[in-house]
Amino acid sequence: MTKPEVSALNSWVQVPKDSDFTIYNLPFGVFKNKRLSPRAGIAIGDKIVDLAVLHDEGFFADLSQLPHDIFLRESLNDFISLGKSVTRRVREIVQELLKEDNEALREHQIRGKAMVNRKEAQMLMPVKVGDYTDFYSSMEHATNVGTMFRDPDNALLPNWKHIPVGYHGRASSIIPSGVPIHRPKGQFKDADQDLPQFGPSRRLDFELELAFITGRQNKMGDSISTDEAEDFIFGFVLFNDWSARDIQAWEYVPLGPFLGKNFASSISPWIVTLEALEVFRLAGPKQEPEVLPYLKCEKDHAFDINLEVLIQPEGKKETKVCSSNFKYMYWNVAQQLAHHTVNGCNINVGDMYASGTISGPTKDSFGSMLELAWKGTNPVKLEDGSERKFIDDGDTVVMKGYCKKDDIRVGFGEVITQVLPAK
Ligand code: CA
Repeated sequence: MTKPEVSALNSWVQVPKDSDFTIYNLPFGVFKNKRLSPRAGIAIGDKIVDLAVLHDEGFFADLSQLPHDIFLRESLNDFISLGKSVTRRVREIVQELLKEDNEALREHQIRGKAMVNRKEAQMLMPVKVGDYTDFYSSMEHATNVGTMFRDPDNALLPNWKHIPVGYHGRASSIIPSGVPIHRPKGQFKDADQDLPQFGPSRRLDFELELAFITGRQNKMGDSISTDEAEDFIFGFVLFNDWSARDIQAWEYVPLGPFLGKNFASSISPWIVTLEALEVFRLAGPKQEPEVLPYLKCEKDHAFDINLEVLIQPEGKKETKVCSSNFKYMYWNVAQQLAHHTVNGCNINVGDMYASGTISGPTKDSFGSMLELAWKGTNPVKLEDGSERKFIDDGDTVVMKGYCKKDDIRVGFGEVITQVLPAK
């Protein structure tokens, strides 16, 4: 498959060399600051373009479908439900306005008002999430977990290479980067005990994931094919799917994860669009055995996205503990959405679909502490000299993601979450 050609772009906005938010990216988010009520913006370098101001000044005048207050709503749901032809056009107009040789905004009297400092903005949830689904699509992760908890010779369950396995998660506890979480409490049972105990989780873990957000609904009863799936996907965020391994281990048979998972999931606040990721598209891993016809794909749906996890103990330096990549995923997003809806399940605008922990083939690419410290048998050493089997109170977990090809960089920013003691 030929890759789309991208001509070099420069902006009149100063964009630091290693910035995730280049003119090629232009992700959408919702922000507020001391002066401004919640509104939609596009990130570029250290700035946010205030879309409400641009709309007010008539920069989107040729988009008659745009309600006057569309960028002043508390989520992007209404905006992205207008469809890709509108969202894509808004992004293109902003890209045009930010180009080095374009004077329309650069020399305009509202320039100061339209460009907000990212440092002074508080990022909010970009969408109102109605439903959240968590897949389990990394073969390396599923193999590691199966090896640790079941049988190394039969680490993958018989259905795994035939079904993009998933479960319905909890939408109410999805929070943006910067919001701390409290260590969850619950039941767990030690292997040498007959009865469960109750208390703060002793095995709090992160899961390194990406999530896609749907921007279009299907009718209940209708399925979405792999070919149509990307028309329903607006974009991606980083997703830290917090997990309490001890609570999870005791509760998950027979119906799967519940309180071990539903207390919090943290996301990066900028939605990177599918359009911005186009240059980084590639073929996913070969699927063997052959999948059923409804899961077959005509085109490539994998993306080359570098991912990192860092742990920062309170008041100390951070340590990178994992480097992985989204391209390792066995099941792609088109297959996930096709499978999700093949029974007629209806999806909505703003719904979130996490990939499942993204582990790579090497030991430093595992996407959870469970795997990195191998069930606590091989503690991870941090730069301050301490060790971790899981996440301690006071620790901050940072996830980063970016794509890079030649001079083009498109990144997700970060999802940063501190763990506070149990309440
Ligand atoms: Ca997960």
